[in-house]
Amino acid sequence: MAIRGLALNNEVRVYGINSTEIVRTAQQKLNTSACASAALGRVLSIVSLMGIMSNDQEQIIVTIDGNGPLKKIHAHYMANHTIRGYVDNPQVEVLINDQKKLNVKEIVGTQGTLSVMIKYGLKQDYFGMTNLISGEISEDFAYYFASSEQIPSVVSAGVLVDKDGTIISAGAIIFQLLPQASETTIQYLENCIDKISNISSKLKEDNDIMHVINNVFEDFTLLEKTNVTYNCPCTKEEFYYKIATLSIKDLKQIKEEDHQIEAICPWCNTKYHFNEQEIDQIIKDKLKAKKD
Ligand SMILES: [Zn+2]
Repeated sequence: MAIRGLALNNEVRVYGINSTEIVRTAQQKLNTSACASAALGRVLSIVSLMGIMSNDQEQIIVTIDGNGPLKKIHAHYMANHTIRGYVDNPQVEVLINDQKKLNVKEIVGTQGTLSVMIKYGLKQDYFGMTNLISGEISEDFAYYFASSEQIPSVVSAGVLVDKDGTIISAGAIIFQLLPQASETTIQYLENCIDKISNISSKLKEDNDIMHVINNVFEDFTLLEKTNVTYNCPCTKEEFYYKIATLSIKDLKQIKEEDHQIEAICPWCNTKYHFNEQEIDQIIKDKLKAKKD
C-alpha cells in the first residue's frame, strides 16, 4: 500500500509505501540474487512513490546505469498503478559490507547515471538525468530530485532479504520540502533521518506504513491511499513484432537450424515460443509488407 499526504503545517509532502509484495513478486519472477533483489527492490519502491506523486503522469521509465557488476537497473511505472522492473545481471554475486548488510553500493557502482523519463498524456514528456553520487539508490534519488527537479528531498528505501533469498519486507519513504517551508521544518526533517532509516526492518515489525509515518509526524494528513502492484503486460504479439525486425535471411536460417524461436520477456521471464509455422508466417508477412 502506498500513501500520499502532508505534514509539518503542510510544508512537507510525504510519500510512503510498504512494497513487500511488489519486491517479492519481482524476486520470484526474475529469480534475483539477494544483492540484486535489494538494489532492484529499492528502485521499484522509490519509482512506485514517483508514480503516485501526480495524477497526470501516464508512465515513468527509470534506468540506473552504474559501473558495478549488476549493470543496468530498469523500472517502468505504468497506468493503473502497476510497476515492473529488471536488472541486467540478476544473478550478481552477493557481497556484504562492513555493517554486515547487503552491499548494494558495490554491485550498483558509484559512477554512472540515473535517468528518468516521465510520459504525460497531453503535456510534453519530461526527461531528467543526474550522475550517481553513492550507488546506495536512496541517496542517488535524493540527489536526482534536488538537482534535476529542484525539490529538496529525503529518500529512504530498503529491502530485507532472508537467508534463502526470499523477501521478508520492503518499503520506501520520500519527504519533499515545499517552497514555503520554514527553517524549523527544514531542521525537523534533517533530524528525523534516524526515524526513517532501516525502513524494511520497521515494516517487518509492523507492516502498516501509516504507523511509520505517524511516528515521524504528529500532524500527518493523509490525502490518498493507492495500491501499487507488480505486473508485466507483455504479450506474444509484442515479441512477434520484435522478431519481425530480423532479416528474412536470418529468420530462414534460424528456422532451418533451431526449428523454433524462444523469446524471453526481461521484465517477467515469460517464455514465448514461435514454431516453424509461425516463423513462416512472420516471413510471409514481411514479404507482403515489402510488396505493399
Ligand atoms: Zn513480461
